Amino acid sequence: MTINNKQKELELNLNSTPSGNRKHIVIMGRCNVGKSSLLNAIVGQEVAIVSSIRGTTTDPVLKSMEFLPLGPVVFIDTAGLDDEGGLGRLRVQKSKKVLQRADYALLVHSIDDFDENHHVETLYQLKVLNVPYLIVFNKIDQAGEDLLNSMRSKFPKAVFVSANDMNSIHHLKNVMINELMTIEEDPSIIGDLLSYGGTAVLVVPVDSEAPKGRIILPQVQVIRDCLDHGIKVHVVRETELEQAIKELKHIDLVITDSQAFDLVSQIVPQDIPLTSFSILFARHKGDLSTFIEGSKVISSLKDGARILISESCTHNHTHEDIGRVKIPSLLNRSTGKSFEYIFSMGHDFQEDLHGFDLIIHCGSCMINRKTMLSRISLAKRHGVPITNYGVVLAYINNILDRTTKVEGML
Ligand code: SF4
Repeated sequence: MTINNKQKELELNLNSTPSGNRKHIVIMGRCNVGKSSLLNAIVGQEVAIVSSIRGTTTDPVLKSMEFLPLGPVVFIDTAGLDDEGGLGRLRVQKSKKVLQRADYALLVHSIDDFDENHHVETLYQLKVLNVPYLIVFNKIDQAGEDLLNSMRSKFPKAVFVSANDMNSIHHLKNVMINELMTIEEDPSIIGDLLSYGGTAVLVVPVDSEAPKGRIILPQVQVIRDCLDHGIKVHVVRETELEQAIKELKHIDLVITDSQAFDLVSQIVPQDIPLTSFSILFARHKGDLSTFIEGSKVISSLKDGARILISESCTHNHTHEDIGRVKIPSLLNRSTGKSFEYIFSMGHDFQEDLHGFDLIIHCGSCMINRKTMLSRISLAKRHGVPITNYGVVLAYINNILDRTTKVEGML
């Protein structure tokens, strides 16, 4: 990639809706049912390689688009669920893992090669992961009238398409949009905590760890959510916070970077509610009550306990530093014990959580809520308590009660 192309890609990424804020639509089915052709027809571009050779799609193919009138979505085309051989089985595992991110799935069959056992097995997986789905029969241009009528009567809610027939694709898109519209929206970050016209003060330290020339995604997203809900927002460094509190007549909420908790909690008077970006995201992307419960096991962890520290992206050194350095040393210091830390990055969250005593997750601003909820439910199935960075830092600083007491937060 040339420098110019890299620059263009960076600008596009900075200007477009982050993937974590898009509905994730996974396209799944057996090999050669026409998943990639369907994706290309839906998005109106050749984004996935189409071929009659089994297993052409190896890694999941992602395509972000504005799916109007719904809004930003990302389509994920997956490898066939009946792929064979050593590599094929790895691809199948990868495709199944992608389902943990799915807000919605298209289960695609080729009408002239329907495998009922596979269909039932896949529906079971979708139900386990609580993924709403739409059954799509593809390649209807290759089916006779009798087969078409019999499948229509057997699957009255399914959609019947041919990737070559744009009318059927338009119909499919309309059905998808109507169904996606009924899926519950993610809770807002702050819009339901403060009234229209309320005032929030954001504390953003600008130190050596802050990225040059910009502020990080969670802070940007909180500002945008304030603007969306008519909340007045003031952004200050911790060094100007005291003065800002004096100047502003009324403040409904102070939101700080978790790293400045200690100092900020001493500056903000007790009658002004205080929380952190990470705690807001714990609620927005995950389950704050579960994370608070998770933090309570810290005091009873034994020496040598195994703690999994999980981050949803690999590129943010500031957060890497919190997860890899600050939280481990603060935990060891505050408990007087020495724990074993295991780190996982990006979408590679451990599938087998046996043997862990606690999971501490980052604020997950780069992943969608569905991914975080899947991780929480996996942790619960393994009986491992789970919490997040902001909750742990508030716990260690003895301000967890204060920072989660904001009205409407729990
Ligand atoms: S590490 Fe987590 S909280 Fe930090 S930027 Fe990445 S996804 Fe967001």
